[in-house]
Amino acid sequence: MKIGIVGYKGRMGKEIKDLFEEKNHEFVWGYDKDGEYFQEPPQIIIDFSLPEVFEKTEDYVKKFKVPLIIGTTGLRDEQIEALKALAKDVPVVQSYNFSIGIQLFLKMVDFLKDKIDGWDIEIVETHHRFKKDKPSGTAKMIKESLDKDVPISSLRLGNVAGDHVLYMANLGEVLSISHRALSRRAFAEGVLKSAEFVTNKKNGYFTFTDVI
Ligand code: NAD
Repeated sequence: MKIGIVGYKGRMGKEIKDLFEEKNHEFVWGYDKDGEYFQEPPQIIIDFSLPEVFEKTEDYVKKFKVPLIIGTTGLRDEQIEALKALAKDVPVVQSYNFSIGIQLFLKMVDFLKDKIDGWDIEIVETHHRFKKDKPSGTAKMIKESLDKDVPISSLRLGNVAGDHVLYMANLGEVLSISHRALSRRAFAEGVLKSAEFVTNKKNGYFTFTDVI
């Protein structure tokens, strides 16, 4: 497929471009801080940038009338609503984490959440020093799955791709679930799966949970 990437010069943008090209897909369009790269119209747009770029992405998706895969974190509620409106015309896959491991993590949380009433519960997330938002979108997803207002601690250290730990403790024991992304490749693989998933869809709002 012919892909377009918003944020194509960024860490995730480059990883996604490399993976898709390895799989014989073609990078034909991009948008970044210094403007547009145009070779030909894309058949799909992938956005890994910043929330302030969202309205540009929205305009380009409408212009090219193509599916959107969006992994940008820190989106505002009204931007999520705008994505749902966009999904009436094109397929949209939105997730704050495109790794398989975090999907399994969320399933474990769903299994545990009714069994840990009265326990101390805390989330700790660690990311590289360049990450702009805090707490991470994934930590927010874990908190949402718990249906509880639990504290989140955020560490910004070196070049860590993404660590999440959920601690649960009573007076006699500590239980934890942890996930470590060893590189950004794990997220790019999920984006590729999502791109393949939307090829036969006309429209609709999906999360990565729907994809796997
Ligand atoms: P990055 O800073 O390396 O890349 C962001 C890109 O956006 C850069 O190329 C930057 O130049 C571009 N950009 C910034 N402002 C812009 C503007 N005004 N107009 C156009 N382009 C602009 O960041 P990253 O590590 O690649 O992460 C990008 C996003 O993806 C972040 O929101 C991050 O949290 C998110 N992320 C999501 C997942 C996931 O699985 N959903 C995984 C990793 C990262």
